[in-house]
Amino acid sequence: MTGESHFALDNRIGSKKKGYHLMKRMIFGRTGLSVSRIAFGGIPIMRLPTPDAVALVKESLRLGVNFIDTANGYADSEEKIGLAIDGIPRRELVLATKSMANDKKTILEHIDNSLRKLKTDYIDIYQLHNVSSDEKFNAVMAEDGAYEGIMLAVRQGKVRFAGFSSHTMDCARKMLQTGKFYSIQLPYNFIDRQAESEVIPLAKKMKMGIIAMKPLGGGLLDNARLCFKFLLQDDGIVPDPGIEKLGEMKEIAEIARKAGPLTKRDLEEMDKIRNDTAKNWCHRCDYCQPCPQNIGISIVLQVNSIIKRMNVEKMSSWVGGQIAMVDKCTGCRKCVSRCPYNLDIPKLLKENQLTWNEYLEKHKIS
Ligand code: SF4
Ligand code: SF4
Repeated sequence: MTGESHFALDNRIGSKKKGYHLMKRMIFGRTGLSVSRIAFGGIPIMRLPTPDAVALVKESLRLGVNFIDTANGYADSEEKIGLAIDGIPRRELVLATKSMANDKKTILEHIDNSLRKLKTDYIDIYQLHNVSSDEKFNAVMAEDGAYEGIMLAVRQGKVRFAGFSSHTMDCARKMLQTGKFYSIQLPYNFIDRQAESEVIPLAKKMKMGIIAMKPLGGGLLDNARLCFKFLLQDDGIVPDPGIEKLGEMKEIAEIARKAGPLTKRDLEEMDKIRNDTAKNWCHRCDYCQPCPQNIGISIVLQVNSIIKRMNVEKMSSWVGGQIAMVDKCTGCRKCVSRCPYNLDIPKLLKENQLTWNEYLEKHKIS
């Protein structure tokens, strides 16, 4: 069962220096792993210079964070984490990473790459990354699919537990129902609560480790106190914030230390933020698809989050290609009729396209 269990007591993870407080830990589902109450999310460090990224990871470790989550697709995030954790006894860390590979051969190559970059000989949790459509589900779970690759790596001692991440609740439920996984990672914050009704209760029933990605709404929610206080109400869920600046994890650790039950005022504040943001908030569920013009709607609607968290320069050609597709929108509004959140998609596509182009111009990115 999940639940807070003990504190980090060693000197390398969880410094007892003045100003640092040891972070609580919890048991991560039926993996039995003892993980910090907050994980370190490895997306934003990919756009930092290496020394800054290493310093951020080290600061988080001093605060008692022992759970680090990244992906082989996050540029050089794994390498930077590998440098930061070099010299720390491996048993003191819980490392999670993921791969978008669909087939067994490719994921085995990715696992070997992750081991090399993270400078370790095993990964605690290897996740199938973004299993959010039936096509993806069928590919990764097929004979000689990526799941079989992870299981071979488990038998070889390179991986301890298989997990997955997903943005769509139908697919997440389907993955859970296979009964083959130990961890699930899904978007969850006080705006995006799709997982609350069915997927999280099912995951808990199955004693899964549960990771909440986008605790700050992918960088779109500013009120860290409310975001983490909300998530920490549930002692079976590990928030996984992407950390970009020194001091951010310290602030979150302080929030975690002081978090109590949500007050009436907290609930009112959350309602207000929810009302203000709901008309622009894309949940990446892709129910609006298929678009007859093949526009990657949910990608384009993430522009603000991409700008806030990713390495835009490195992603500009791929994201730029998706943004350019917006010009093909005919305004047929088929997508709008399918969106459960009633978003005005054609209007939002144009707004996000403008934001993207202005950002590239301002930062002289071609
Ligand atoms: S309105 Fe535009 S984005 Fe929506 S389905 Fe039609 S062409 Fe695609
Ligand atoms: S636009 Fe609507 S339907 Fe499409 S991904 Fe976003 S929230 Fe889902």
